Amino acid sequence: MISIQGKGVSNGVALGPLYFYQRAKSTVTRTTITDTEGEWARFKAAQTKAMDQLGELAEKARKEAGDEAALLFETHQMMAEDLDYEESIQSAICDGHLNAEAAVSDTADQFAEMFASMDDPYMQARSADVRDVSSRIISILCGAAQGGIDSPVPVILAADDLAPSETVQLDKSKILGFITEGGSGSSHTAILARTMGIPAIIGVGNQMKAEYAGREVIIDGSNGNVIIDAEDDVRKVLLNKMEDQRKARELLERLKGLPNETRDGVSMRVFCNIGSPDDVHAVLSNDAGGIGLFRSEFLYLNCDDYPTEDQQFEAYKRVLSDMEGREVVIRTLDIGADKQIGYFNLPVEENPAMGNRALRICLNRPEIFLTQLRALYRASAFGKLSIMFPMVTSVWEVREAKKMCERVKKELREEGQSFSDDVSIGIMIETPAAAVISDRLAKEVDFFSCGTNDLTQYTLACDRQNADLGRFFNPHHTAVLRLLKTVCDNAHKNGIWVGICGELGADLTLTETFLSIGIDELSVSPRAVLPLRQKIRDINVAKVRDKILKTLMSDEQE
Ligand code: PEP
Ligand code: MG
Repeated sequence: MISIQGKGVSNGVALGPLYFYQRAKSTVTRTTITDTEGEWARFKAAQTKAMDQLGELAEKARKEAGDEAALLFETHQMMAEDLDYEESIQSAICDGHLNAEAAVSDTADQFAEMFASMDDPYMQARSADVRDVSSRIISILCGAAQGGIDSPVPVILAADDLAPSETVQLDKSKILGFITEGGSGSSHTAILARTMGIPAIIGVGNQMKAEYAGREVIIDGSNGNVIIDAEDDVRKVLLNKMEDQRKARELLERLKGLPNETRDGVSMRVFCNIGSPDDVHAVLSNDAGGIGLFRSEFLYLNCDDYPTEDQQFEAYKRVLSDMEGREVVIRTLDIGADKQIGYFNLPVEENPAMGNRALRICLNRPEIFLTQLRALYRASAFGKLSIMFPMVTSVWEVREAKKMCERVKKELREEGQSFSDDVSIGIMIETPAAAVISDRLAKEVDFFSCGTNDLTQYTLACDRQNADLGRFFNPHHTAVLRLLKTVCDNAHKNGIWVGICGELGADLTLTETFLSIGIDELSVSPRAVLPLRQKIRDINVAKVRDKILKTLMSDEQE
């Protein structure tokens, strides 16, 4: 039996075979070859395999998101077979005696540069496509599996860490739990695990060895334990715990249909955070009141090129229709920092968390923002939509973003397209600047939603991705909680509601505090809805409020 200690970031016990995440290899070695015919045949075989993979992806995309989504993969198929592209590779192999990987890589560079230098933006965008197709062929030539899970049965997935673009592409039905070497409790792997309601353990460092692959592993997300080949008695204890959790879950089921109301009648809205339209069924089955945060960037992370207005419209429409009139807050694009997307061609930054991200990108590149806003407003005809802007620091940013909304509405009206007149506009409060000027921002919008993951990061100057910061990253810090109180007071003075959509919202040790400072909505992962309801229904706010506020504002706070 091997026992490894990490940090549990999503509760629950899971058991299954250990599987290491396969990441496509990208290093290309250069060799001189003599058997040019053999090397050309090797390229042709890899090209055929790439064509097959792309065909399958096109079919999957067509089923999930329609013809337009499939077109991207079909374009890649055309590129893989393009005669000029093939000729260039053939000449590098047959005349230049270069190995196939290097020949494809050189050709990709030449073609990508050529496309990038063209005036037409459509042709410029093909630069990313040719690189994508080429790296697929190179991965096949190198014998590397495409990133993902190649297992017939569900597994406990181990990885160094997973980028957001990798997590969105995982086949979720194959994952029983996560283990990562690095990461932090508010990293996107941890968030994904909580949304899926499966256990996750981070920060195991280099303790996971390749030879453990395929062996039975039990993970306990409540205490961060990873046990490989458990001894019988340990196995029995953990399986009993798993059974207890199942029963506790069953008990929670009885809370469905009951209000989120404290003993003394204070109501709290409990909504859900989602990352894809597929998560809506978990929202409904956990009896949440609505969606408080739909991270729209999944659409962008899941594509090899900018998603079109129609692709976005279909996704937003699906969420709004499936939610059948319940409120859905869709956050506009929040990329940059840890969520990098190749085709955006963002300059490399020394300090990306403080760089070009979220609303900043949208305001600097209006064509991207306007496309998303058009899709959102068109989808608003199918449900109760609210739009929310991330990473706000100044009033002018909000005004500029709202102007773009007005421009889109005017355009749609002129085109005769239908949209709802009742779309609320809100902002995320996730920078100290926004919290401090929340009195002024409250005059500009219909609601606030506090992104405590980033608010903690920026207030405490602590990178949310850095597991080594340990106790320095403390979302319970008085500075964070006092900022939340300031935001609540300013929101209420101006007649707007305020929620929390960061991970802190599900922290049951703070539910009394949130009720006491006047938070109106908590938006949490679907599995956290019923435990939160249970907690709320157990609280008497009138009894605890004064003490909590006094402690929070006391000058003895550390
Ligand atoms: C947050 O920062 O708290 C938040 C909800 O946004 P994200 O985690 O997507 O940055
Ligand atoms: Mg954030």
